[in-house]
Amino acid sequence: MIQISSQFDSGAITVLDASRADTIRLAIRPDSTTAGPSEFLQWFHFRASGQGGELRGQACRFVLENAGQTTYPDGWPGYAARGSYDSQNWFTLPTRYEGGQLIIECTPEHDSLWIAYFEPYSHARHQALVGRMQMQPGVRHERLGATVDGRDLDLLVMGSGPKPVWVIARQHPGESMAEWFMEGLLEALTDPANDTARQIRQQATLYLVPNMNPDGSVRGNLRVNAAGANLNREWMEPSLTRSPEVLHVRRRMQQTGVALFIDAHGDEAIPYNFISGCEMLPGRTEAQLRQQAEFLADFCAASPDFQTTYGYEASRYSTDALKLASKWVGHTFGCVSLTLEMPFKDNANAPQPAVGWNGARSKALGAAVLAPILKAVARG
Ligand SMILES: [Zn+2]
Repeated sequence: MIQISSQFDSGAITVLDASRADTIRLAIRPDSTTAGPSEFLQWFHFRASGQGGELRGQACRFVLENAGQTTYPDGWPGYAARGSYDSQNWFTLPTRYEGGQLIIECTPEHDSLWIAYFEPYSHARHQALVGRMQMQPGVRHERLGATVDGRDLDLLVMGSGPKPVWVIARQHPGESMAEWFMEGLLEALTDPANDTARQIRQQATLYLVPNMNPDGSVRGNLRVNAAGANLNREWMEPSLTRSPEVLHVRRRMQQTGVALFIDAHGDEAIPYNFISGCEMLPGRTEAQLRQQAEFLADFCAASPDFQTTYGYEASRYSTDALKLASKWVGHTFGCVSLTLEMPFKDNANAPQPAVGWNGARSKALGAAVLAPILKAVARG
């Protein structure tokens, strides 16, 4: 008999009936919080296996029956689930969205198969990244404080220049591409052969939070922390009980100031990399709008994976906008302040159907963002 398990880092699924390989009935599980299930659900990560021989060579059909009732049903058309035999190399699985159900069909080549919404970024990998980075010359680690579940909130600091540059990622824990992006950015920034990095570190001091929401990441959540808070709606009034992750980062930012801010995310529906800026904020000056446009143009020039044709509709301003990290930072510090979105699907300008958008491509984009960062800090 086929077994479905999810009792591991970022595991999440509900098993309805796994007795038949040709119809493995599953449900996407709501985000988990200390107060019970949250209203958000989209992330899944599970492993299928058997006692021996049930899976390998067997035509399997995994049916996620409640896909139509998830937070972003627009995310399913054109989407392909990711699979892996070793939890290291991930590939797309034949997937279709039909009648409100997400149907994944495959014939596994080995005895067990991991399936996930997107290539996961584990807490073990996060800890190894922070440890490896703090050992690089000129890099400092700070523990900003504790999360709701009592995990460490990690900040890496490097550079000796006057411009404070902040980059944070993964406020929404299911957007694991955001931490892959950070890994690429951190490796490029600490590469002694990278002259762009060397110049940035002379002109700026960088404050990097690779994972804003480690509790949600381990719990296998799409969107919220352990207290049920959507951290990217907490920036106006963060609290120690509900959103300590934002409170700690905001407090540190107020000490350092911010000259440039990037907040990395993933988008369920739009198959492109894009940026949402601060043009809607009242009091934006012509100079600030020009600097934002220059950053976007420089990013386009630095990476063919970045573009400005597709993205969110420019939103009308309301004070609620300041609940979002990039809007609050842009408003508070008057700097270029950006939300970067990467796709859960693929980059439709340069599709790679065998893997979709993935960890390696997010890392490459993280390395590519050095060029626009350098131009922004050099511009003054
Ligand atoms: Zn997000």
